[in-house]
Amino acid sequence: MEVIICIWLSLLGAIMGSFLGCMGYRIPNKIKTTYPSSFCSNCNKPLKWYMNIPIFSYLFQKGKCVYCGEKIGFIYFICEVLGFILFPLNYLLFGFNLDFYISTILVCVLIVTIVSDFKYYYISDRVLIISGLCLLIVLYIFMGTSDFLMRLVSAVILFLVMIGLKILGNSMFDKESLGDGDIKLMAVIGLALGLLNSFIGLFFAAVIGLIFSLIIIKKNKEGIIPFGPFILIGALLVVYFSSIITPYINELLSI
Ligand SMILES: [Zn+2]
Repeated sequence: MEVIICIWLSLLGAIMGSFLGCMGYRIPNKIKTTYPSSFCSNCNKPLKWYMNIPIFSYLFQKGKCVYCGEKIGFIYFICEVLGFILFPLNYLLFGFNLDFYISTILVCVLIVTIVSDFKYYYISDRVLIISGLCLLIVLYIFMGTSDFLMRLVSAVILFLVMIGLKILGNSMFDKESLGDGDIKLMAVIGLALGLLNSFIGLFFAAVIGLIFSLIIIKKNKEGIIPFGPFILIGALLVVYFSSIITPYINELLSI
């Protein structure tokens, strides 16, 4: 049974990865999410169904459009692989409990944001609202009223803290320090993780983002580092390693 669920989740993850990666391209470019059906962004020719099979099509076509030979972004292949691996992994780690739903929602937001933020410096409000609503529903189902309200308060506090950080950063560096999308995204993370874990996730995000920016800084002339994907990776690390992190933090807090 476990194996069947994992296979099913892998397929669902790959399909969702393909769909969400595509949304990460369509939403910033103001292309409708449902129409037209998949097409090559270079020659605009519509893709046949067999050119649209997640993971396989990219591998068989050697990452190129069949019609014009233009390279298909490797980032879309990564999106499909992320869904393919992380959907079943979430199930193997958590079963179908609250953490499964939280981590899977975060993976979905990560996949869209990897494309939209890395390629277009854009975090979609629509994606944040839908993921926020999905989180509220699963939290309401799995949590007691007081814990549920605490998550709502956490989201508001994180939103305000991020606005404070932005004002502080802007005055220190004399330029835009944090995007509005990052601020709204942190409110969603507050819902997903609660206050303390969100700050731990933010710390991970800052460290990973810093390492990444040091590696690619020469390539990026504008000096803008999209922070959204790192916020989401940091949050996911907290969910995945909470069994290690939580006792350690409790010990620190009790001193
Ligand atoms: Zn083409």
